[in-house]
Amino acid sequence: MIPYGKQSIDQDDIDAVVNVLKSDWLTQGPKVPEFESRVAAYCGAQSAVAANSATSALHLACLALNISEGDIVWTSPISFVASANCALYCGAQIDFVDIELETGNMSVGRLAEKLAYAKIQGTLPKLVIPVHLAGQSCDMKEIHKLSQQYGFKIIEDASHAIGGLYKGKKIGGCQFSDITVFSFHPVKIITSAEGGLALSNNKKLVRTMQRLRSHGITNVPEEMTETGHGPWYYQQVELGFNYRMTELQAALGLSQLNQLDKFVARRHLLAKQYDMLLRSMPVDPLLQTSDCYSAFHLYIIKLNLSTKKKHSDVFEKLRESGIFCQLHYIPIHLQPYYEKRGFRSGDFPVAESYYSCAITLPLHPNLTTEEQQYIVTKLGELL
Ligand SMILES: *Cc1c(COP(=O)(O)O)cnc(C)c1O
Repeated sequence: MIPYGKQSIDQDDIDAVVNVLKSDWLTQGPKVPEFESRVAAYCGAQSAVAANSATSALHLACLALNISEGDIVWTSPISFVASANCALYCGAQIDFVDIELETGNMSVGRLAEKLAYAKIQGTLPKLVIPVHLAGQSCDMKEIHKLSQQYGFKIIEDASHAIGGLYKGKKIGGCQFSDITVFSFHPVKIITSAEGGLALSNNKKLVRTMQRLRSHGITNVPEEMTETGHGPWYYQQVELGFNYRMTELQAALGLSQLNQLDKFVARRHLLAKQYDMLLRSMPVDPLLQTSDCYSAFHLYIIKLNLSTKKKHSDVFEKLRESGIFCQLHYIPIHLQPYYEKRGFRSGDFPVAESYYSCAITLPLHPNLTTEEQQYIVTKLGELL
């Protein structure tokens, strides 16, 4: 089976993890802060807070921005459920902004329309979470402009996008957002097995996320409500979690970081080859906009309406041929849990129409040209 995504692990990665196993620290040692500084420096952000997953990092980010009951949060319906769940963890209400069909990203036009309407209704969001689908940035400059006009905060869900660029700058620099989150799940661009990270240029947000990652406990005297009882003293000042990343994960992440640019370049090469090989077929790859350099986490195509082939048949046949294509994503609002909360089919028509034609073809650094040729040939036969 050719998987749609897969980690790429070399001897340096293995050595890095083994070295930690032989060291004094399996958790709360030097590797996590080193990983945080390296990623922050790479992205041009002031600080980074590592966590045991991007889901945890998104939760920490929402909490740091004071999202709570009664608040409204908007995200994209074409994303992994975690982009929306993080708001629900905080007791907030979630709503979605429809996408643009060409890129699969949140539509700025629809966002502007929805904001204007929400202003009249008194239902403006406190936070918007754009998702950089497949590794290509949303139009952050425009979204940021709207945030200033309407007064909402921004978390970039950049789980797909480490190594990508927006307007010539690394995604993760938080130039147009309060916080940016990356995922290091094995299918993503680089991996720490499980792991995630939140970047920010705001010291207060960073400090809050650090505290909440570890039970809401502090040992910084200035953050305490009374003076210490002795050298053992720490205080729990708020309700936090254990969302810490281990030293093993950070060591793997650090080692993978050395290969990040190489991985992204390889993904671009494979994507370009797909573009060429698919040119004469009734499919459209996601549009790449000129101000973005995608990290190419995913290679997504849309079946043209002109094809008589049924979307689900194409999936079935590709999988029967050993090609594990995937669909990113089932619109979140159509998940049973979200339908129970009042969303229904027809709410976000562009997302739903995208869902009816999108296919993710295999793409990862170790995909061979022969495998790619096989995938394209099989697809060609089917269409
Ligand atoms: C993978 C992913 C997440 C969750 O990442 P984990 O590290 O697995 O928690 C969140 N949002 C998006 C868009 C993702 O693709």
